[in-house]
Amino acid sequence: MTIRINDIMDAVSSYMPDVDRNLIEKAYVFSARIHQGQIRLSGEPYLNHPLEVAWIITQMKLGTASVAAGLLHDTIEDSLTTVDDIRAEFGEEVAFLVDSLTKISMINFRSREEQQAENFRKMILAISKDLRILLIKLADRLHNMRTLQYHKPDARYRIARETLDIYAPLANRLGIHWVQRELEDLGLKYTDPEGYSTLKASLDAEIKEKDKYLKDIMEKLRVELGKYGLKGDIVGRTKHIYSVYQKLKRQGIPFENVYDILGVRIILNTIGECYEALGIIHSMWMPIHSRIKDFIAMPKENMYQSLHTTVIGPLGERIEIQIRTHEMDFIANEGIAAHWRYKEGKRISEKDGEKFSWLRQLLESQSELRDPREFLQSLKIDLYPEEIYVFTPGGDILRFPIGATPLDFAYSVHTELGHHCKGAMVNDQIVPLNYELKSGDIVKILKSSKATPSKDWLRIAKTTRARNKIRTWLRAQEREQSINLGREMLEKALAGYRKKGEVKEPDLDRLAGEFSLKSGDELLASLGFGRISIHQAMHKIVPESERALPRKRKPKKKTEETGVRVKGVENLLIRFAKCCRPLPGDDVVGFITRGRGITVHRSNCPYVVASDPQRLVPVEWDTESTEEHEVEFSVICRDKPGMLGSITAVIGAENVNITKAKVQSLSTGNARCVFRVMVKDLPELKGLFKKIHGLKGVENIERLQSF
Ligand code: MN
Repeated sequence: MTIRINDIMDAVSSYMPDVDRNLIEKAYVFSARIHQGQIRLSGEPYLNHPLEVAWIITQMKLGTASVAAGLLHDTIEDSLTTVDDIRAEFGEEVAFLVDSLTKISMINFRSREEQQAENFRKMILAISKDLRILLIKLADRLHNMRTLQYHKPDARYRIARETLDIYAPLANRLGIHWVQRELEDLGLKYTDPEGYSTLKASLDAEIKEKDKYLKDIMEKLRVELGKYGLKGDIVGRTKHIYSVYQKLKRQGIPFENVYDILGVRIILNTIGECYEALGIIHSMWMPIHSRIKDFIAMPKENMYQSLHTTVIGPLGERIEIQIRTHEMDFIANEGIAAHWRYKEGKRISEKDGEKFSWLRQLLESQSELRDPREFLQSLKIDLYPEEIYVFTPGGDILRFPIGATPLDFAYSVHTELGHHCKGAMVNDQIVPLNYELKSGDIVKILKSSKATPSKDWLRIAKTTRARNKIRTWLRAQEREQSINLGREMLEKALAGYRKKGEVKEPDLDRLAGEFSLKSGDELLASLGFGRISIHQAMHKIVPESERALPRKRKPKKKTEETGVRVKGVENLLIRFAKCCRPLPGDDVVGFITRGRGITVHRSNCPYVVASDPQRLVPVEWDTESTEEHEVEFSVICRDKPGMLGSITAVIGAENVNITKAKVQSLSTGNARCVFRVMVKDLPELKGLFKKIHGLKGVENIERLQSF
């Protein structure tokens, strides 16, 4: 839709009844006259741009002068109009804003680094006089980003990069979340079009798939909170594309492992209600301890306040829940712009100024920095609190995520340097591999041909690059070991027959073909890894008539005992994972352990999710098994006498053995009972749950992932 001046008028008067309509009207007419006949790259009349910018300014809920300045922001740059003309027509305040905006837009960020730094300094200086300048500038940039497709590809990339580097972080620091989100997503779209569209497709699919699940959770929350008299807005939320993109990059994990893409936000009236709701939620679903965050007691620097918790939801999936008051929600979206609502006409007040002390500090520190490059550095450090900048001995700057170590540094320089890194000199002092690098550190890597990657390195390295290189190295190493092991196993098995001269040397490459493998080495590796059993291999090598001896040893029984079949492979040692206790009927997956066969996990077990997908094999349940399995579950029920007894009685009546029971009183007037029982399969467990649910006073039952 095309924005018209009436839309802007309506929007302003909706939040500011005493708006100076004349001034805005006049600014519109003035801007229309100046831009008459000018055309944007999109082919539209140029006037659409200042109208759109003024519209965005109304969405930030800024006042008359800001809206007028938005309409006029390009008039000086594009014509013979002067600041004095604007001042004569619109007064000092509007003239000051338009003049500052013109000066900023003349700043050229494309220049050499030194010049660039000087320009940053100018911009920060300009916006610090009045933060409205930055807000209007952000509105201008947002509309330019929305229409970026009309630019040539190289201009597109440059503008998008600059948006991600400068404007989006500034929007973040000002707490204007909705602007930050849009700037970042558009910035990504034009700096990495492929990455953007792939991720967007995955996200859309995820949102569609989880829609019902999320609605169920929200309904459960509404009912449960309602029981305690808490009435609030419960809304679903989605992470924006760029924040998922950064998370994937930062943690080096696949999309499937990001579990907080969808979440729930609960908006209540008072802070007390927020904490109360947190307690209720924790009694419904088990929280993950390290993920409980209290930004109410400790607000973020951009004034953001909220409670965050991640719980294990009803389907065993993690779900992030944010709890905050209406006021906090307002500030979370609008940031500093929220403070302008009723303050138009005044410059930034002392109190607001304190909240944005980072800006003042930045300006104070810049007067001490003589080298403009140093200023640029300090500006970048300040705008990206999640990144650090360190130096090579030669003075080059390298950028890392917070928590990066000398290993990340070494791998970023050269793969071989990474593989043989044994430590580092940081600021002339020897530090261990797991030393956490800090901004400003000068790092020299210490090398030794004896040092080689180990599994521990995967925990030490933080960057995707380093972790991938380490993994590749370990995998190659593992393969070599597997080949040796496989060769040894085969030699041993063949030795008996060789003595009797009964078998010839097997043609490994041909044999590999029979298992649909590419080479003899591949076959040996599969033997060593346990993907193919030595029995299967011997079966193909030795003629049937002479195979009496090995056949006796065939431990086929194992498969029957465990009740699990591994597709395409038999005769494997199968064990059940202690971490997630799978039951027949659960979705399961096999994990190939080193030398100990296959461990069966539930597919959503965090251990599996975090492990190397190459070592997972599909497994299926053998329905004929009758073996019993131990599982644990919790029951949330009213805390009254006899409750535990009646639950225990129900379990007993179902002929299920209890191996452990525990009760715990909760502050909500409920109790949490934890039972460990022996059951045959999932249907049996579900039947049991149904019976327990039928008891009066039982509120919730949940199978526990690990115990
Ligand atoms: Mn503009």
